[in-house]
Amino acid sequence: MTENEQIFWNRVLELAQSQLKQATYEFFVHDARLLKVENHVATIYLDQMKELFWEKNLKDVILTAGFEIYNAQIAVEYAFEEDLIVEQSQNSGNQNYNQQVINPLPAITSDLNPKYSFENFIQGDENRWAVAASIAVANTPGTTYNPLFIWGGPGLGKTHLLNAIGNSVLLENPKARVKYITAENFINEFVIHIRLDTMDELKEKFRNLDLLLIDDIQSLAKKTLSGTQEEFFNTFNALHNNNKQIVLTSDRTPDHLNDLEDRLVTRFKWGLTVNITPPDFETRVAILTNKIQEYNFIFPQDTIEYLAGQFDSNVRDLEGALKDISLVANFKQIDTITVDIVAEAIRARKQDTPKMTVIPIEEIQAQVGKFYDVTVKEIKATKRTQDIVLARQVAMFLAREMTDNSLPKIGKEFGGRDHSTVLHAYNKIKNIIGQDESLRIEIETIKNKIK
Ligand code: ADP
Ligand code: MG
Repeated sequence: MTENEQIFWNRVLELAQSQLKQATYEFFVHDARLLKVENHVATIYLDQMKELFWEKNLKDVILTAGFEIYNAQIAVEYAFEEDLIVEQSQNSGNQNYNQQVINPLPAITSDLNPKYSFENFIQGDENRWAVAASIAVANTPGTTYNPLFIWGGPGLGKTHLLNAIGNSVLLENPKARVKYITAENFINEFVIHIRLDTMDELKEKFRNLDLLLIDDIQSLAKKTLSGTQEEFFNTFNALHNNNKQIVLTSDRTPDHLNDLEDRLVTRFKWGLTVNITPPDFETRVAILTNKIQEYNFIFPQDTIEYLAGQFDSNVRDLEGALKDISLVANFKQIDTITVDIVAEAIRARKQDTPKMTVIPIEEIQAQVGKFYDVTVKEIKATKRTQDIVLARQVAMFLAREMTDNSLPKIGKEFGGRDHSTVLHAYNKIKNIIGQDESLRIEIETIKNKIK
């Protein structure tokens, strides 16, 4: 029994004694034993015939003691002799019952990162389902979606959500057995336990959890090490059978986890699979607006929007960029962050991530203009000579094809045109290059200059 359980139980007995006649106490209470207090439920062992008496007369006593010791509403569950027999036959060895039931599992470290919560996770259309499912799972673990499988590209918040689920469950129920682990580390632990011949410890550790959070499950697929998938499979089954919650993240859907055993993939699809896609511009601005509160600089709105426009596929890059900016600003002792400072600070980072760079529409306009010998100003204006119209439409076509800007956004960049104009230009050029080889080559040439 833990110290708190002991104190709680002593208080229950004390209160009961003060309220009952001595003989009643002797008969109904004296033999009862507390088995555990877990998840705000006290399990009390007694003769079945005494249950009704407890229900009628001692609930208040338990509530009072619960509030005094745990500062929480403690409910009661009763355990009777039959329960003990079942329990005993399930356990091997011949320790006596009390030791087995009260014998607490060794404490575990959750390995959660406390800085990740639902509160500091910005919602957008890209992650709305993932957030909703995560919150549902955190509120009622093991009952709604089991397992929950979250997949998406790097830096989109999978690890953040996984930790938020764990932190939220622990906040609600500090005694819950929660474990966060990457699949990579699961494999490492497996190897170590094999080597030390202590597999039982590993089993005990993972199969007695209330909530298992496994990050980057795709790394389990790559490992051919015999036995790891098997062990994971058994762990999964043990938890799932007991309605214990499992949440997994992955960089791809279950069906694309090619080297994973089918029986695992099947199980991953038992619950709910949700996807996170890269944040759109508005979400990126919201994420930055939230994140800059951690910095002591002034970020004018245009700076935030400029920065949000620079990294479009990965929130980690956005956060990294903020760190770069703060270094530069500190160094230069600047407290208002201008667009120029941002441009300077993120130059190196942008070069490091060529795949992810966003092509600015101005760059497309400039290159197209150069090729057709018209100015960017002319492209954006309304004059309709033949060469200007062609340049304008090619630029719109490329803006649609090479960037992920919306049609209205592109229209805006072309002198405030309507989205239907952009769509018309796009369709027209697409049609022509289907038939006109020379225009197709021109466009390829321009494209190569932009890239
Ligand atoms: P993943 O595990 O998908 O690669 P992470 O969870 O590690 O991504 O996210 C990378 C960083 O971006 C983390 O610091 C995380 O807090 C942050 N992040 C990602 N998405 C969001 C969001 N929607 N709101 C706030 N922060 C986010
Ligand atoms: Mg991650």
